Amino acid sequence: MSGHADRETGPVTTGPLSAHHVATAACAIPGTPLDLAKAGIDACVHCGFCLQACPTYLTLADENDSPRGRIVLMRALVEGTLAPDDPSVRTHIDQCLGCRGCETACPSGVPYGHLLEATRATISGRHPFVARTVLTVFRHQWMLRPMLLGGRLLRATGLTKLLARLPGPLGFAMAMLESTRPKLARRAYDARGDGSRGTAALLLGCVMEGLFGETNRATERVLTVNGWTIADAPGQQCCGALHAHAGNLDAARDLARANIRAFEASGAETIAVNAAGCGAMMKEYAVLLAHDPDYAERAARVSARVRDISELLALAGPARGGDLPLTITYDAPCHLQHAQRVTAQPIAVLGAVPGLRLVPLVDSDQCCGAAGIYNLVEPAVSNAVLEPKLAHIANTGARFVATGNPGCLMQIGAGLRRAGSAASTVHPVDLLDASYAGRTPNATSAPTG
Ligand code: SF4
Ligand code: SF4
Repeated sequence: MSGHADRETGPVTTGPLSAHHVATAACAIPGTPLDLAKAGIDACVHCGFCLQACPTYLTLADENDSPRGRIVLMRALVEGTLAPDDPSVRTHIDQCLGCRGCETACPSGVPYGHLLEATRATISGRHPFVARTVLTVFRHQWMLRPMLLGGRLLRATGLTKLLARLPGPLGFAMAMLESTRPKLARRAYDARGDGSRGTAALLLGCVMEGLFGETNRATERVLTVNGWTIADAPGQQCCGALHAHAGNLDAARDLARANIRAFEASGAETIAVNAAGCGAMMKEYAVLLAHDPDYAERAARVSARVRDISELLALAGPARGGDLPLTITYDAPCHLQHAQRVTAQPIAVLGAVPGLRLVPLVDSDQCCGAAGIYNLVEPAVSNAVLEPKLAHIANTGARFVATGNPGCLMQIGAGLRRAGSAASTVHPVDLLDASYAGRTPNATSAPTG
């Protein structure tokens, strides 16, 4: 990979990292989220095993943009050798994707994801305008729904195909929107099941319901076929992942409380999630609300009921469908692989679709660069992280890249379109649903570059 760092795990001696050599006993930022999370910093033994798992380190070749380097910056904040408003801290923390690839690589169990959120909550100044706008919109359904409706209308005009050719972030954003267009021809089928597995309520999700509504309906159908009865959970909100990852923990907690109330009221035994980032967030509500006397236990109960759709379908078998003679590859969403540690189940589900030929993807466990709103606020690094992913996909010769997260579907989908690839992204559930319907892919909906 051109421009990537060499294997290097030696001690750090330059830049702000040298600050970690100066130790002080008292915490310089008492009572902050990072102070409360500092035990996680102490777990790091600076071994460097995480470096080669870190996309920003591999791309930027700067130890300050590695997990180990960022943990040293966090320690410097706690010890007071760097101030929370130090611009160098802000830069390197902002450039972290939050992909948590370092967590699964770490032999010492450093809870990097929590440390990152706590650091962002501690240093949180003003986010860039784009980030502030997105976080505000996703907090309020009355703003979010019209915005997503506008996106669907724009997509329906077909203008997104044209605008996706524009250079720069606007063109990429249009390519992302274009990539949300359903890829498989839909044919109705009678989705029946025996209900033997109990009730499941689906987290509809903001982007999933707004731009991938067909995938949500497919999710409900395949759950039904595989023995779940679908329960409604009205009143559910954005899961809060975008806000938590940006360090806006109060907003994330408000959204979590609303979802806890909605899913409690649904009475569903299982909460099914088809968006990896949202599932990871909901499984961590128990941690997010651990200090809320009114919600801590309720959050723990809700988190315990959350399952990624692939976990449920792998558990079920799943039921066999019709032949789907397609060559596909699978890209593991970071928040499924690294945050939820769900790795085998999506492969098992895809393996159960008759006729599907699954070609392994090199470095499928590496981030694609989407990372919530990262591709909007750090487009240059995001594109650099995406580049090797697109090259590996091209080498598979696959017609579809299956991945179970809206951000990854859009990021990889946009990258493929702008690279002139004939491949496009699809949610694994859509493939299973197409198999159940005995459908074939709609070739006319394929990207043409
Ligand atoms: S985060 Fe884990 S893998 Fe990385 S340097 Fe620290 S202990 Fe080693
Ligand atoms: S979360 Fe991802 S980008 Fe951030 S330090 Fe860990 S591996 Fe690197």
